[in-house]
Amino acid sequence: MSIAEIDLHSALKKYFGFSEFKGLQEEVIKNVVAGNNTFVIMPTGGGKSLCYQLPALIAEGTAIVVSPLIALMKNQVDAIRAVSEHEGVAHVLNSSLNKTEVKRVKDDITNGITKLLYVAPESLTKEEYVDFLRTVKISFMAVDEAHCISEWGHDFRPEYRNLKTIIKRIGDDIPIVGLTATATPKVQEDILKSLGMPNAVTFKASFNRPNLYYEVRPKTKTVDADIIRFVKQNDGKSGIIYCLSRKRVEGLAQVLQVNGVKAVPYHAGLDAKTRVKHQDMFLMEDTDVVVATIAFGMGIDKPDVRFVIHHDIPKSIESYYQETGRAGRDGGEGHCLAYYAYKDIEKLEKFMAGKPVAEQEIGHALLQEVVAFSETSVSRRKFILHYFGEEFDNETGEGGDMDDNVRFPKKQVEAQDDVKI
Ligand code: ADP
Ligand code: MG
Repeated sequence: MSIAEIDLHSALKKYFGFSEFKGLQEEVIKNVVAGNNTFVIMPTGGGKSLCYQLPALIAEGTAIVVSPLIALMKNQVDAIRAVSEHEGVAHVLNSSLNKTEVKRVKDDITNGITKLLYVAPESLTKEEYVDFLRTVKISFMAVDEAHCISEWGHDFRPEYRNLKTIIKRIGDDIPIVGLTATATPKVQEDILKSLGMPNAVTFKASFNRPNLYYEVRPKTKTVDADIIRFVKQNDGKSGIIYCLSRKRVEGLAQVLQVNGVKAVPYHAGLDAKTRVKHQDMFLMEDTDVVVATIAFGMGIDKPDVRFVIHHDIPKSIESYYQETGRAGRDGGEGHCLAYYAYKDIEKLEKFMAGKPVAEQEIGHALLQEVVAFSETSVSRRKFILHYFGEEFDNETGEGGDMDDNVRFPKKQVEAQDDVKI
């Protein structure tokens, strides 16, 4: 082991308390430390944050971290401060700071104390901040959730579009690190282009989740009864049931309760107190099932979710992958069951009606993939991984037999060439 490697390991231990790097982390970090443009594609939970946090802590100067979620930035800053000698090691720069606070942040940066500066992309449009950042030593720029830059991603944020120009203004040769959990080739291409780093070294982890079992059932009138049966067969296990509408969430939660299942609803229409309460009940296992809209899940880290049911099919394969990905985080069993009716696709199409044409076209193309996935007789896993630009061989790949189409192949309808009328 070279001295540099020992240093990385001791920094890992010192700042994060871990003894080993996870997956591609070490290679990524070496590349960042070397000052190269870097592109990191890893599924959620893969450990992307550490890929910029650790290099930032050992580099000279301040790393700027762009992230869209203020709550997550705050969490990260608190975590880093907890293991550092100086509180100024990490700061968030945003519009909520008063003059004194901004001065404090600037002083800490100027004095070389601040290693990580978190900013929302809209804060970087402030002339005053950019002018200041031009005058100090920036180690590199990390763009977390980089798919927000692409209209083909599931979470497009127009503010991300200006990043390339802003980064150039802060410094011409600042290395850029882009990170995302969205792996479709289109989004990747968009990110590299929009961040202006065609030469970035790309690190892509596998998106295969071998312990998840994928199943799609046709959606009929008896879907609720079918779900109740499934949940009862999985008595005492934790699960999430996703529905499209708040009304459906309430309705299904009630039906489950009436049938003796411990279930609570979760959607953005509930007041904050109830939402927190229901989320905590799920984490503390006071309830087995959460019936929810997609508002539920961001940042939920319950390792032993045993099933994720989609009462309504999601609007893209990315969403499906993210939502089913909340099952089996601990590596144990995770059953992903989705109900599909073409009628629901039409419903989703209708939702887009008022949107700009370009957005509708993208939405439509993403939905067509969902249709193909739902109707395919090919391995679901193979389909998903192919969608993410990954080849998968069911014979040799991990989890190769873990979906309905592989376990129960649909009977091929024989072509009949001698049909008599
Ligand atoms: P991502 O951003 O890719 O979704 P995070 O950076 O939030 O993932 O990390 C996911 C989890 O993995 C966190 O709880 C983090 O503490 C943990 N983690 C990261 N790196 C390591 C490691 N080397 N060893 C053990 N746990 C790790
Ligand atoms: Mg992350």
